[in-house]
Amino acid sequence: MIRMLLVEDEDKLVASLIKGLRTADIDVEAVRTGREGLERAVEGDHDIMVLDIGLPDQEGFTLLRRLRATGSDLPVIILTARSSAEDTVRGLERGADDYMAKPFVFDELVARIRLRARKPPEEAPVPEGVLVVGSCELDPIARVLTCDGAPIPLSPREFQLAHLLMTRGGEVVPRAEALEHVWGSAARDNVLDVYIRYLRSHLGPHAIETIRGVGYRFVG
Ligand code: CA
Repeated sequence: MIRMLLVEDEDKLVASLIKGLRTADIDVEAVRTGREGLERAVEGDHDIMVLDIGLPDQEGFTLLRRLRATGSDLPVIILTARSSAEDTVRGLERGADDYMAKPFVFDELVARIRLRARKPPEEAPVPEGVLVVGSCELDPIARVLTCDGAPIPLSPREFQLAHLLMTRGGEVVPRAEALEHVWGSAARDNVLDVYIRYLRSHLGPHAIETIRGVGYRFVG
């Protein structure tokens, strides 16, 4: 849902835009004056502003200039009956992102709103097979472990152990299983403690929890 601030004083146009844009999944907050427009643009949480130039209290250009002076980068589409090239240039120079002359084709306005509106930040997708526990990510194919975005250099055994612990998410891995998995059945018991210590030295002392008498849990 795009949240739009409409600054326009033509009541009939406002009513038809609210109605029409709602069906296009655009939520409209409408105000009639430049003063209100600036106030709401600064306070509100809009994705775009559609701004009329001929407002009762000031020119839309004034609002636009004041808005940009606050440091706001809210996308603005100017909507006006004045279709001269001079006005277009003036609007764009003062920080408008787009310009539509009245009368306009509704679908074109919708298209421009969709194009210009602020997009929600997309979360980077986690690649398939990548394990994420706490602030750490392990890519078993690239054989890379990163924590807080920084790659952690690990020896093959350390990597194998970290991989096993992270495969279980936040669950406890029994000591016997970790030993068997990483070193095979002939492993000496204390080798696990040594490698847990290595991992903690790379990842921080609290990255792996000891569950006394049971095993280890990766916290990240
Ligand atoms: Ca007007």
